[in-house]
Amino acid sequence: MVFHSGRPFFSTSKTNQDRNTLPAILIFFNFSVFHLKTPYYSIHLLIVRMQGRKNAIRLTAGNVPVVDELRIQDTPPGTIGEYWLNLVHNGIGEPINIPFMVARGKEEGPIVGLTAAIHGNELNGIALIQKLFRDLDPTVLKGSVVGVLVLNVPGLLLEKRQFNDGSDLNRIAPGRPDGNVSQVYIHRLVQKILPEFEYLIDLHTASFGRVNSWYIRADMNAPKTARMARLQNPEILLHNKANDGTFRGAASAMGIEAITLELRDPHIFQQNVIAEALVGIRNVLYDLGMLEGAIQMHEKPTLLCESSYWIYTDEGGILEVFPSVGSFVQKGALIAEVRNIFGQLHRQYVAPEYGVVIGKGIDPISPTGGRILHLGIRPKYL
Ligand SMILES: [Zn+2]
Repeated sequence: MVFHSGRPFFSTSKTNQDRNTLPAILIFFNFSVFHLKTPYYSIHLLIVRMQGRKNAIRLTAGNVPVVDELRIQDTPPGTIGEYWLNLVHNGIGEPINIPFMVARGKEEGPIVGLTAAIHGNELNGIALIQKLFRDLDPTVLKGSVVGVLVLNVPGLLLEKRQFNDGSDLNRIAPGRPDGNVSQVYIHRLVQKILPEFEYLIDLHTASFGRVNSWYIRADMNAPKTARMARLQNPEILLHNKANDGTFRGAASAMGIEAITLELRDPHIFQQNVIAEALVGIRNVLYDLGMLEGAIQMHEKPTLLCESSYWIYTDEGGILEVFPSVGSFVQKGALIAEVRNIFGQLHRQYVAPEYGVVIGKGIDPISPTGGRILHLGIRPKYL
């Protein structure tokens, strides 16, 4: 078992440190070597390979246990445990394991779960969970924080939003116990991860070809959920009930207070939005009495939208979307143009009503039905 209190446990053996202090062997690649054939050429390659090994220092703590269920009680009070959750097996019978961490306080209290990368290219949530746990001291925590670092492991390894059978896992929750490859995968995610949670913060970003504002999806008619959402200090809060096959929807149906954080852009670690979101997540831990600390709220007010929808093109071509993310558009304002490949203006699009731009398409190569912008409706400052 791997338990540590507070900061991650590192072990650097003396041997590794000694290796690191050896002077580096500089390789001057002499092109004449290529003409000399084997002996010299082989020696050069050997030195390069040895040098590669000497530059690597192993710092991890050893074997992380594989478990069949996520159970808070497996982690001793006042410690942090790291685990692999066995979910399914791949086509050659190897396990597909989900990495997660549990920070269990010394005293009982609420259980807050954070989940990342149900879309395999949405990475900011992974770095956010790592940073949160790095600074969490379980000896002063009341209750438990669970961080599930990657929900869609096959998608992440493919560097794709979807699961490896092409399905969007966040549209087919809660799945089926006897379903196809993706249906059974999401079903086990829901069944093995969510039952311990009282609160869920599901971490997302925009998809390829789009940019997002920093916004939250939450059912603002559910008082505890709405409170948790407001504590995040986002630019935009979007009221959304999540009865749409999402992981958050499956959680809500199980009585869990659940919100979705949209942390800007895909396939990148963006330290600014990660730092901002960490403030909001710590606010929730303070508000629930799990940690001692003062809630920090932005001076800039949050915009609340009653609903939202995407506006799509009805003809393909080279798309340019004009308003920036977070800006307001008036009814009838020009929001986008489509040109043909010769650069001639082919189509113009106007805002169907007043709203705020929550997200927008940035890929100029836009087939018929391409995304123009995600319009938040009836925005008002909180
Ligand atoms: Zn997502």
